[in-house]
Amino acid sequence: MNTAELTRLRSQPVKAGSHIIDGELRAASHGKVMDIVSPIDGTLLTTVPRGTADDANAAAAAARKAFDDGRWSGLAPAARKKILLKWADLIEANAMEIAVLGVRDNGTEIGMALKAEPLSAAGTIRYYAEAIDKIYGEIAPTAPGNLGLVHKEPVGVVGAIVPWNFPLMIGAWKLGPALAAGCTVVLKPAETASLSLLRIAELALEAGLPKGVLNVVTGEGAIVGAALAEAADVDVIVFTGSGTTGRRLLQASAKSNLKRVYLELGGKSPNIVFADAPDIDEAAKVSAQGIFRNSGQVCIAGSRLLVERSIHDAFVEKLVATAKSMKVGDPLDPSTGAGAVNSLGQLEQNLQFVEEARLAGRTIATGGKRILAESGGYYMEPTVVAGVEPSDRVAQEEVFGPVLAVLPFDTEDEAIEIANGTNFGLAAAVWTQNLSRAHRMVKRIKAGVVHVNTYGGADSTVPLGGVKQSGNGHDKSLHAFDKYLDLKTAWIKL
Ligand code: NAD
Repeated sequence: MNTAELTRLRSQPVKAGSHIIDGELRAASHGKVMDIVSPIDGTLLTTVPRGTADDANAAAAAARKAFDDGRWSGLAPAARKKILLKWADLIEANAMEIAVLGVRDNGTEIGMALKAEPLSAAGTIRYYAEAIDKIYGEIAPTAPGNLGLVHKEPVGVVGAIVPWNFPLMIGAWKLGPALAAGCTVVLKPAETASLSLLRIAELALEAGLPKGVLNVVTGEGAIVGAALAEAADVDVIVFTGSGTTGRRLLQASAKSNLKRVYLELGGKSPNIVFADAPDIDEAAKVSAQGIFRNSGQVCIAGSRLLVERSIHDAFVEKLVATAKSMKVGDPLDPSTGAGAVNSLGQLEQNLQFVEEARLAGRTIATGGKRILAESGGYYMEPTVVAGVEPSDRVAQEEVFGPVLAVLPFDTEDEAIEIANGTNFGLAAAVWTQNLSRAHRMVKRIKAGVVHVNTYGGADSTVPLGGVKQSGNGHDKSLHAFDKYLDLKTAWIKL
């Protein structure tokens, strides 16, 4: 990574953000702005519009008009593909600038941010662009005398509400298939991660996306997000974030136009290490990365480590050593392993979980404290809490920080009972050389994705979605189109 380039980019002033509505840069209807504070050092980075319900409704109306007049869905698939591919190219060409902007806004370490944010977003948009002219309708196998055709049509206006941990990656998981399907979109970024999404939306206009097809409204979730959730012009809400907000979105749908609501929520994912894991050192290293990268602010983070008792102490020792060797600090230093926690509020919440565990008599095997406070930024040590009971809050609730809860187990059945013993079901992992056991565990663990002898890294070709209270519907892969394409039957008497 070119450090001179990083130094130049990090010291550039950041222009104030604007909504993007109907192809225009706009201020909030009342003119107010929101301060954007960098988690790197707690200083003011820039401002974005403090969006209003009127702004959200104006964006939804622009998206409605753009959908209904067919300026996007009515284009030849090959023409839409060309624009989306150009957009992906522009994101890739500006990847470093976009990554640094995003890191200054949300604190993710640059090594991860570059790959997981602009480059991943470009790859996702390309994946769906390439699929546009490969999706066919169906001819149904009906009895003679009838013809049953199943058309696939874009659902209409999509309200996409996304979180701050990976705004571009998760944003692209929604925007890619929604736009490829021919829908129009109003995007609502998280309060603490708007800037890189605003930047790529500008690039979409540059790539030739017609105005009104992709609108972005910044501001508070409880105002802008809530207005989108109730808007009559919005047909579908796709959301990634907390269960609390997810519940509000379902209520808003019930109160308004019964828009469909797809939720990607949190997790408390079990990472299960058996004594016959193929490489214990590798398992310890990957397990540490699986919880501590991006300061644990990863929806699929392996936040519960279940270790077979016979290797428990040795494994925890290796894991603690990896945690201790991880460099935490300035996210724009390429050698940093974990950057800043996204906000002071999130940092305080993380510390509270550790304090509670300490008071309950659990062992803080490493970490547990805020560090580098003198920088003004929000940094926390990678933290391992051992001797945790399955019913502890730290084993049941999502911390969304660099805090790992470790629990021993004796048998496969006990591991399954602990693994499935939360309200969540997003991700999991199993480390074993026993092929039969691996398959048994994949089948018995209630989760949207089960990794075997690895953690994370699943590419665009496979779906990601939760079961239980981790959500419904899927991002990624061709299955994501299900949320954005309606089936329409033509039943024809011959
Ligand atoms: P959050 O629910 O507070 O915010 C997510 C988004 O919802 C933000 O854009 C926010 O502005 C908006 N919002 C907040 N209140 C709203 C309301 N009343 N109405 C409409 N919109 C509202 O969650 P967060 O703290 O930003 O994100 C962290 C959560 O996201 C964690 O629980 C994490 O597990 C989850 N997450 C899940 C996945 C996944 O793929 N399943 C991926 C990343 C993060």
